[in-house]
Order: sequence, then structure tokens, then C-alpha cells
Amino acid sequence: MHIADPIGNVQLMQKINRLKVLNLVRERGPAARPEIARVTGLSTSSVTNIVGFLLEKGLLVETGPLAKRDVGRKATLLRYNPAACSVVCVDIGSNGVRVALTDLAGTARVSKEIRLDHPLMDQEMLDLVRREAGRLVAEGRGGRKDGIAGIGVAISGLVLDENRLVVSSSMHWKGLPLKELFEADFGIPVFVQNNSLTKAHWRLHQGLAPDERHVVFVDLAMGVGLIDFIDRRINDGVIGELGHTTVQKDGPACFCGNRGCLEMVCSVEAVLRQCREALEAGGCPGLAALRAEREEPGELTYADVREAARRGDADVRGILRQCGEYLGIGLANVINLFNPQRIVVNGDLLLTEDSIYETAVAEARARAIGAFASAVRFEKADIGPDAAIQGIALFLADRIFELSAFSF
Ligand SMILES: [Zn+2]
Repeated sequence: MHIADPIGNVQLMQKINRLKVLNLVRERGPAARPEIARVTGLSTSSVTNIVGFLLEKGLLVETGPLAKRDVGRKATLLRYNPAACSVVCVDIGSNGVRVALTDLAGTARVSKEIRLDHPLMDQEMLDLVRREAGRLVAEGRGGRKDGIAGIGVAISGLVLDENRLVVSSSMHWKGLPLKELFEADFGIPVFVQNNSLTKAHWRLHQGLAPDERHVVFVDLAMGVGLIDFIDRRINDGVIGELGHTTVQKDGPACFCGNRGCLEMVCSVEAVLRQCREALEAGGCPGLAALRAEREEPGELTYADVREAARRGDADVRGILRQCGEYLGIGLANVINLFNPQRIVVNGDLLLTEDSIYETAVAEARARAIGAFASAVRFEKADIGPDAAIQGIALFLADRIFELSAFSF
């Protein structure tokens, strides 16, 4: 026979109500106690008790008294305080790892970047991340077991099975249970997310225009990710791989098994590959001259390519234009499939070359259905190197303030 546990139920209700109040202020911005009572349906005395508790824990802070709400009475506004907790965030890419000790908004207190000359595979990468995250967990704890609220890991790869398993071709991870491994190591909640999604989450957090209900975020990083925002939330039902849609029927073979995938013709690697091939065939004279000026030209870099284009190398400009046109074809497909109000394009290194973005936007507008194309707004995302870290911290905050993980 099931016997109800009255103490357990009271504690559960207490948690639920604390989260109701905290998440209301977190999501809607500063609010006063009477407004919180009205929106949550909790009694004024309950709200007073809960707010007292959250103030004591530092999760809320008073910012007022600011506004005169009633005659003769000033309502004190309460604001969410992301600095109340520390978390450790990790961003794993094939050519480097960033680790940071941050608050719940992703503001870094300590951060470190480890550049890699060659990609680390499998156990080597796992050992590196474990060591660096462990160092920051110890530093953040400062001897207190509860000093760190969680670990967030952003990764260029697929994160499957409710964020439990990681599949990454570059790291050779074929279903690595990273979450379980780190939770066993550190004894705190661990959240793993794809790094295009964390960047998208960061961008969403920067705000959208009041009328924008439907926005698509395109991330040209290792691959080309596509994330859909509906009503200021990430639409979990649409997280696609735009990079593996076909834009060239007989194009270069892709590791996914297809040919002519967008990321095979629109990426820094694709531009470098085409320039190398053109140089070998006696083309790209400006680029060849630029490299001949140096005693040791070294590996061809994207900076060399951009410089040759700036100096007027028509072959190099043609390769960059073609890269932009393929991106434009991909974006036209996005417009016709989704009819979004805005497309945010994050290009990391690739879009440091403005001509690619400008060509892509013109190509997309020319190809997409007229009414859709004339209405859509384009934005080149101004995402710094810490966006993935900040995004994972924001994801982690959402997770920590869910009922199953809330430890206050
Ligand atoms: Zn592919």
C-alpha cells in the first residue's frame, strides 16, 4: 500500500513554489512582490517568505525602491542575480578548448584557451578536458563542496539521447557518455550541448525585435548548423544540419556519404582547397606573388587568401564569390522552407571576409520566393569567441533551475 509522505510533499511544494517565483523573475525581468503574487497565484505571505529565502541565498537581489505603484507606497523591485552561483564551462572544438569559471550568465571569472596544433582524438581529448575542468572545479570550490553548481560542456558534434551521448567525427567519439563520466568524477550536475545551439542560445539572450516571432540561426562553424527560434524560444523540433543539404549535384564527396554538401563548398577548408588546386594549376597569380614575397611561405592560410583578394587577385575573388553564392543557395532554401522574419548568420572565421556574406545575401534574395525574400531581414551575428561558453552557462542555468536539479 502506498503511504503518502506528508513531509516529502511539503518540501516538494516548497521547491515548486520557490522555482515559480525565481523563474518568473528570471524570465520576465525585475518584478515587485505584489506583481509576483498576482502572476503566480501565491498568497502575499507565501511570496514574502519565498522572496526572503531567495534573497538570503543571493538568487534574487532588491533593486528598488523604484516605482510608486500605489498611493503613498513604493514597491521594491526584485532582480535575478546570476552571480549567486559559479559554474564551469567548457567549449570543445577540434583546434582548441576553452574553459572558464563563470557565473550563471556566462560572465567569466577565470578563463583559459588551449590551442591545439593537431586535433586530439578520443581518450586524449577526454583527458585534456577532464584535467582542465577539474582544475577549475577545484579553484571554484575553494574547499567548499557546494562552491560549483554544475559543469556545462559545449561541443562541435551531435549530442544525443537527452544530452547523454556525444558523437563527434573529428574527436572519434561514437556515443561517448560524457555526462555520466563527468557526473561520476565531480559529483555535480553536468549538461552537454552542441556548440551551435549554445551560440544560438547566446544570440537569443541578446534579444530580438518586438515583432520577431520566427527567426532562423545559421552557424557556419565546423559544419553548418540550423536552429529555429519560435516566440523567443529554441524550437527543439527543428535543429538541422544545413551543411549536409546538397547544393552541387556532382560536387566533392562529403564524409556523410553524400556529394556536393553545402559545407564541402562553403567553408574555410573549401576555400583553401580550391585556392591550393588553382595555385597548382598555375592560377591565382596575386596569391602566388604574395606567397613568393616571403622567405618561408608556410601553409596557405585564410588570411593569405583574404589579402590576395584585397590586392585584386581575380581568381581568388572568384573562389570567394562562388563560396558566397553556394551559401546564398543554402539561405534561399532556408527562406523558402521556413519563411522566417530574420536569418542570423554566424560565420566565425569564414565571414571575416565581408564579400562572402554580401554575395550570399544578394544570391539568397535573388533565388528565394519574391514575397518571402523581400520581407526577410539578414543579420551577420556579432558573436565573440566566448559566445559558446556564455551560451552553455545560460543552458546550465535553465537546467539548474528545473525541479529535478534544483538544490535550494
Ligand atoms: Zn555531407
